[in-house]
Amino acid sequence: MILVLGGTAEARELAVLLQDAGHGFTSSLAGRVARPRLPVGEVRIGGFGGVEGLREHVSTTGVRAVVDATHPFAVGISANAASACAAAGVPLLRLERPGWASAPGAAAWHWVSGHDEAAETAAELGDRPFLTVGRQSLGRFTGPLATRAALVRVVDPPDGPLPGSWRILLDRGPYSYEGERELVTEHAVDVLVTKDSGGSHTWPKMAVAAELGLPVVVVSRPGAAPGVEVVVDAVAAAEWVSALS
Ligand code: NAP
Repeated sequence: MILVLGGTAEARELAVLLQDAGHGFTSSLAGRVARPRLPVGEVRIGGFGGVEGLREHVSTTGVRAVVDATHPFAVGISANAASACAAAGVPLLRLERPGWASAPGAAAWHWVSGHDEAAETAAELGDRPFLTVGRQSLGRFTGPLATRAALVRVVDPPDGPLPGSWRILLDRGPYSYEGERELVTEHAVDVLVTKDSGGSHTWPKMAVAAELGLPVVVVSRPGAAPGVEVVVDAVAAAEWVSALS
């Protein structure tokens, strides 16, 4: 039995590949979004209860390997997986899509190390920011951007109160170049704020920003857990699983 820690498009791709190859596997989701896109195959939803909970789950349910295919910014679960798998003596693979650091135009972006710095930088660069940083990070932007006409795109409605000048857009993609261009133009966005999520699924907004000459603020990745083998796509992860003895 393989445990896939998911919540990403790559994890769903891996589920298809594992199913096609006849491997037994379960995908795990955190349960953060109200209507998650479910992978094929067996799915469990909800936290494990920290490192110890995950170690126990791995040890008692016959998991013989774990693929951590969670989002590049989901650092808590990745650190837990590294510790729990080491403690349980179970192999762990990290599946992490490449970031955008070497993408076209990346050298001109405003790279920042966290959301607080992203908020300050965006406030210096424009009055009509487009925030695509995820619901959980929005609280870090409310101070510096309190009076700005921010366009905020999230999958589920934000929890706390947000500035009255903000426009909240509930959407989960997929996003097309045409759709992103229309949105950015219609709202008169003057700065784009994003995480270095990488991959192609959320790239169209970056292409639109480049075409319109908009400044882009990018939150750098927190970095992978040390000592864990990393692959960059679902095909390589499926090969790793198939090669397990
Ligand atoms: P996080 O901060 O790294 O994790 C917080 C806690 O949530 C973990 O300690 C764990 O709880 C639980 N958890 C997270 N991922 C889980 C999973 N796949 N299965 C079971 N429990 C999980 O995570 P996050 O940043 O909130 O992200 C949550 C999920 O959303 C992840 O699965 C991630 O792939 C997905 N996601 C995140 C982002 C992002 O920008 N952060 C974007 C898109 C999708 P316990 O300690 O109780 O086990």
